[in-house]
Amino acid sequence: MQGGQLTFFGGVGKSGGVQVFYGKEGQAVLFDFGVEHSSLLFPKQLTLYEPVGATPGRELRQFLLGGMTAPLLELYDPEHIQGLNVAKVRQVWGEREFPQYERISLFIGHMHTDHMAVLPYAHPDLPVYMSFDSHSLFRGMVAGGHCPDTKARINACDDLSVIHFGAFTMQIVEMDHNATGVAGIIIDDGVHRIAYTGDWRRQGKHPERIDRFIQLCHDKKIDLLITEGTRLTADPSTVTYQMTENELLSRYSDIVCEAEGLVYLQMSPRDLERMANMIAIAVQKGKKIAMEASHAAIWHAANREGLRILEGHPAHAATIQVVDATMTAGLSVPYEPISLEELAERKGEYVYFFKFPDLAQMIELELLGDIQGQSHYIQSDYSVKLDHADVAKYLNKFGITGHTLCNGGHAHPEALSDMIEKIAPKAVITLHSRFPESQNTRGVKAYFPKKGETVSVSSVIQAADREENG
Ligand SMILES: [Zn+2]
Ligand SMILES: [Zn+2]
Repeated sequence: MQGGQLTFFGGVGKSGGVQVFYGKEGQAVLFDFGVEHSSLLFPKQLTLYEPVGATPGRELRQFLLGGMTAPLLELYDPEHIQGLNVAKVRQVWGEREFPQYERISLFIGHMHTDHMAVLPYAHPDLPVYMSFDSHSLFRGMVAGGHCPDTKARINACDDLSVIHFGAFTMQIVEMDHNATGVAGIIIDDGVHRIAYTGDWRRQGKHPERIDRFIQLCHDKKIDLLITEGTRLTADPSTVTYQMTENELLSRYSDIVCEAEGLVYLQMSPRDLERMANMIAIAVQKGKKIAMEASHAAIWHAANREGLRILEGHPAHAATIQVVDATMTAGLSVPYEPISLEELAERKGEYVYFFKFPDLAQMIELELLGDIQGQSHYIQSDYSVKLDHADVAKYLNKFGITGHTLCNGGHAHPEALSDMIEKIAPKAVITLHSRFPESQNTRGVKAYFPKKGETVSVSSVIQAADREENG
């Protein structure tokens, strides 16, 4: 019996942008559909300040001509590639031939832009698989104006569900990362078992999910493990450990408890579990919740879809007020508004889920109202850091205390090595990393694919065997 083959369109030697094609006997699944960080274009997202983004309406053309997404036109909405010079796209990939499949499906591991930026441009007939909570978050992102909707058919899958594609199956396995709903997959084609971790970490709220993934892979005798390696550096022994999510939340709790003025909180609304925990802690400490409107729209719409990870969470009972100055046309949220004047009068009572470009509001919030205690500004795994010139200027001007509460979304190099050793595959591929060769695989043979390469799973494993014996 023949095994399957892999084609690497992205995520090779770079952070983000994983696009790997697994195919066998006429069917294929492409896992993840993002574009790399810091390639020609940065996919636009509201959390970033002035990214070099694609021209609105030309996104897919620019991703394709920039070599940033797979050159398989059947994946894309014809409307977005009308008039595209297909020959030029082929040239970008060196006129390479890619395997042809009768039926292609897409798996999206999580809702970070480097894994899903191309989803809004997917072909309407493309079946898309993702976890139930990733789908809920996606609905929230669309409602909050974080990304355009897609015409593709999304199948929201239960944790551990198995999807049948004729000659192979794909099991969805939920993981832990700073994007709600993150999942990896295990592909089984009767000859080989291939596991893909997606982005993952051990320091999050659910290390038991990582243990479960390792156990599942171990029990299924995984042949090929494909993992992320974002935190690898030229010398991984110097990479620092990050605090656990519980430690981070406890530090947040202390800041909220002691703050006499307003608490400005800047976090990623794609980490809805952290958002829920931060809402619940604030309420427990006697604070009220004010929110920037797009955050509120994401929170509301994602929860309306029924986020499973937040079932029964105390944050659902919190009263949320939307800062009226942040409401924009097209957003709709069912929460009561609060004006900047009202918020300024009662600074000590609120935690404000804040968005970076709104710094100017500090002029009113800090100068209006009776003098109240010192305000605090928390940057929690957000793309704009405290040392950003504008943030630093505002904090300085108004005497606001800045705090950094971050633990990242990616596994420490030791955690990567530990996973590889415990799963003990025949070969390992590290994607989503600038330094895949510095991965300590604890004796497991590594394979280093090149961008655009197509290779059979058998030869990946044989290459590893040869290296072992030769
Ligand atoms: Zn990523
Ligand atoms: Zn991610």
